[in-house]
Amino acid sequence: MIYDLIIVGSGPAGATAAKIAAEGGANVLLLEAAEEGRYKCCAGGIPLTNEEFSSIPRDVGEREITGGVVVTPKKGPIEFEAAGEKDKGYCMFRTDFDRFLVNIAQDAGTQVIYGFRAKLININSSGGVIVKGPQEFRSKCVILATGLGGARLQRSLGMEVPAMVNGIQAEIAIPESVVNEQFGNRVWEFFDRSLITHGIGWAFPKRDAVSIGILGDNARVSHLKSFLRYPILKNKISGREMMVFKGRKIWAAPIPDKIIAKPYRDRVMIIGDACGTADPILYEGIYQARLSGKLAANVFCKAFEEDDFGELSLKRYFDLLKKHLYDEGLRYTYKIHQLLYHSGLLEDIIDASFSIAMEDPEMMESMTALFTGTQTRKQIWKVMMSRKWKLMRKLGVSNSLHLIPTLFRASRI
Ligand SMILES: Cc1cc2nc3c(=O)[nH]c(=O)nc-3n(C[C@H](O)[C@H](O)[C@H](O)COP(=O)(O)OP(=O)(O)OC[C@H]3O[C@@H](n4cnc5c(N)ncnc54)[C@H](O)[C@@H]3O)c2cc1C
Repeated sequence: MIYDLIIVGSGPAGATAAKIAAEGGANVLLLEAAEEGRYKCCAGGIPLTNEEFSSIPRDVGEREITGGVVVTPKKGPIEFEAAGEKDKGYCMFRTDFDRFLVNIAQDAGTQVIYGFRAKLININSSGGVIVKGPQEFRSKCVILATGLGGARLQRSLGMEVPAMVNGIQAEIAIPESVVNEQFGNRVWEFFDRSLITHGIGWAFPKRDAVSIGILGDNARVSHLKSFLRYPILKNKISGREMMVFKGRKIWAAPIPDKIIAKPYRDRVMIIGDACGTADPILYEGIYQARLSGKLAANVFCKAFEEDDFGELSLKRYFDLLKKHLYDEGLRYTYKIHQLLYHSGLLEDIIDASFSIAMEDPEMMESMTALFTGTQTRKQIWKVMMSRKWKLMRKLGVSNSLHLIPTLFRASRI
């Protein structure tokens, strides 16, 4: 049998693409290396914008998030509230969320096989695609949605693998009433270069657990252990146990840092983390993975209608990614990323920006949107840049001199 489409990887990118392609009438096979119900190392924080793909049931979106707390070493916690419904989000376990997404793809007609690790993909421009693993499957087109676990497959097809940083995380079991009292319905973000080069840590509350993690270049377990002793966190989690998944308490996983230049070739498209779509400010990638899955599935449906899976036909995916994800989003994310992570002034810029925002509602809206995603990255960048002289005054002369080359580099992205 020849499938119309095989999707390799059943995370948010693959499951979203599978649902849309199956709804479009295609015969879709979704292959997943892990067993059903696998633990995925992820803080599981998503903005409500995710509901543009499908609404999220209450039992999956474990905890509604109505605000955030930003912690830097100089200033105490800076708290902000979601201004309206659209600013809210959820924190959930990826096991539940990913299962939910695969279920709705199955309901749309997708066939799913768990425990199938694709080892080799052969592309034959006249004959189609052969995906080899424990068995062999054939299709007209293939979408790679393997996260950062499919680098060998990508390279063997002559395709690029995104640059990445490492994330380290543990889930701490805490009774619901204590989570409510200590963390509330807020995501906690820590900006402190003394923790790690990129200096970002987080505590994301679930119903009766909190995901605590840290990421950056060469993040190691020792970085997480020091973070767990961070003054403001230590008291909140003291005496609590780490949860165990597959015999492990601490998990590591990579997160992409940059989108790849060419995510398509004849009969192949690459989506989600495998394509490098995550947003390297807070390193969240679920929404972007689903968006890229939706765009690739739409392009597949058109190619299916025209029976043309050649490179030129699939290039439409690249054009849509550029329009919907890059031009007003990732391009400006990379500018803000430069400013925060490559200026050597991470926490100073966060402190100065929030200090301006305290007396400037427009700036506060943009700073909040950094976390909630309710403004495009382009809008946020514009608001930040319109206050750059104020920012420099707050940073002082010597820091401002440091900032100038970074601003120049950012302006060239
Ligand atoms: C520590 C950490 C915390 C994070 N926190 C957040 C957060 O709070 N919010 C957020 O939005 N994002 C977060 N992210 C990022 C988020 O996890 C990813 O952006 C998202 O999972 C990308 O989805 P995906 O479908 O592209 O890839 P994945 O979710 O990685 O799914 C890929 C799937 O492909 C399967 N696979 C891989 N290779 C093969 C193969 N050869 N054959 C078959 N199957 C294969 C894998 O088993 C996996 O199930 C975090 C990431 C990390 C590491």
